[in-house]
Amino acid sequence: MLNIGCHLSVSGGYAAMARDALYTGSSCFQFFTRNPRGGGAKPMDDGDIGEFLRIAAENGLNSFLAHAPYTINPCAAKPETLDFARRTMADDLERLELLPGSYYNFHPGSHVGQGTEQGIRLIAESLNLTLREGLHTTVLLETMSGKGSEVGGRFEELREIIDRVELSDRLGVCLDTCHVHDAGYDVVNDLDGVLEEFDRVVGLERLRCIHLNDSKNPFGSHKDRHEVIGGGNLGLPAITRIINHPALRALPFYLETPNDLEGYKKEIALLRGLYQE
Ligand code: FE
Ligand code: FE
Ligand code: ZN
Repeated sequence: MLNIGCHLSVSGGYAAMARDALYTGSSCFQFFTRNPRGGGAKPMDDGDIGEFLRIAAENGLNSFLAHAPYTINPCAAKPETLDFARRTMADDLERLELLPGSYYNFHPGSHVGQGTEQGIRLIAESLNLTLREGLHTTVLLETMSGKGSEVGGRFEELREIIDRVELSDRLGVCLDTCHVHDAGYDVVNDLDGVLEEFDRVVGLERLRCIHLNDSKNPFGSHKDRHEVIGGGNLGLPAITRIINHPALRALPFYLETPNDLEGYKKEIALLRGLYQE
């Protein structure tokens, strides 16, 4: 069965989020650990988490993917901005211990003029200061479109970060189909070639999750604007090949398309229908 879900809001609590997951036909889902534009996180309520875990277990919900706020920059030049990113990540990871076995996805960051090498060094340092022995969460580096001074638009950059992290067995990669397309990896015409390159540079065993998005922008544009499934430059035939590819088909897929719950429900049903059982 296709393991697919969408991005949900946790603002009504965890149990309400699990009900939204069921409503949309999701078997997995993503959520922000806190307001994506920054700020504090609500304390996690034991009763709510207990109810969430009960609903999840009864209905086979799995692969909870927590997304770090976009506003943190784990390779910021300013010490206080860098410190804020590191404290946010460490705090998120401690909170996620209440949901053991989850994923924590983050954008590697923007080097803001320091250069890619220094960015990579700082991101690895952020992870070395944040990861600790005994954590029950797998931390995922997201593939980026390479807009502005973003690090992570090339598979080589992800490899270099991973190589510098001591507890790298806790690390994986989340591949975003809109981002890699915009970064110049041709998942439309040469999906096999892109995955071979990923395997050679990073290793397919690191690939844990897929962000399944269409793109508003052309191939190689370095833009990062998501589009609904089939409405953009990837198109439905390419997306159908992605969900059915032997190297990908068993992974969890998360939609981050511009949709409300109703729209997500339709996209999930559409994609389940295109999956070859
Ligand atoms: Fe993201
Ligand atoms: Fe994404
Ligand atoms: Zn994006």
